Amino acid sequence: MMSNPPPSVAGKYGVKHLGLSLEKHKRYKRLADRTAKLNLVDRFDIPAREGRSFQVSTGSVLRITCHEGPQVGDMIVFNSQKLEERFWSARTRVIHGGHLSEGDRLWSTPPSTRPMMTIIADTLSKRENPKGTKPHDLLFCRCDSRHYEINFGDANLPNCQSNLAAAIAPHGLNEVDVHDPLNLFMSTGINDEGRPYYIPSVSQKGDYVELFTEINCLVAISACPGGSSGVASHGLRISVFKET
Ligand SMILES: [Zn+2]
Repeated sequence: MMSNPPPSVAGKYGVKHLGLSLEKHKRYKRLADRTAKLNLVDRFDIPAREGRSFQVSTGSVLRITCHEGPQVGDMIVFNSQKLEERFWSARTRVIHGGHLSEGDRLWSTPPSTRPMMTIIADTLSKRENPKGTKPHDLLFCRCDSRHYEINFGDANLPNCQSNLAAAIAPHGLNEVDVHDPLNLFMSTGINDEGRPYYIPSVSQKGDYVELFTEINCLVAISACPGGSSGVASHGLRISVFKET
């Protein structure tokens, strides 16, 4: 570790000028605290080891809950009105770091390069994180069948790449449109060799994150069938709220 590292890409002004204004911060806190009145407009469950896609309109609050137990959710996002604009994991990592929490934003690909969503609530934000990890990972990619074939000799295991490709197929998208996700509830770090590692998710039954949608989004989430969730696979509950 360098004792006096240079500033990040956000420069001497810090990440704040790329993030939330005080006004927006206050609005999002009202939404997260439910001081603002919210109506539930959609709710469904993604079964364990499966994926689903769904639309969320601008100005909604999307809540993703571990309603059964610890579970990692690989989430990809498209501009639902211009599907070639999608979540840019790498740009988001450069701006906010390798793990996201409250106040961080999900940035889109060029030429727009703008916030698609903002995290407004995160029940893991004050949780103790063992072994130098942090939750809500941007270091890893999604799991895929070739990864399982190369490492475990089995190309037929359920995986996030296939789950996400199947989930977005009804929208005219296919496997090449799957992009690197935000790995919700995934606990990761970087070891002394500079390589990423993960531990079983620290999430517990009832934990959730909430995201405010800055644009109209097509979202796909895979309840990751891999080992990062822990010994068991669980589903994820999707709830969408709209301010009245
Ligand atoms: Zn996965």
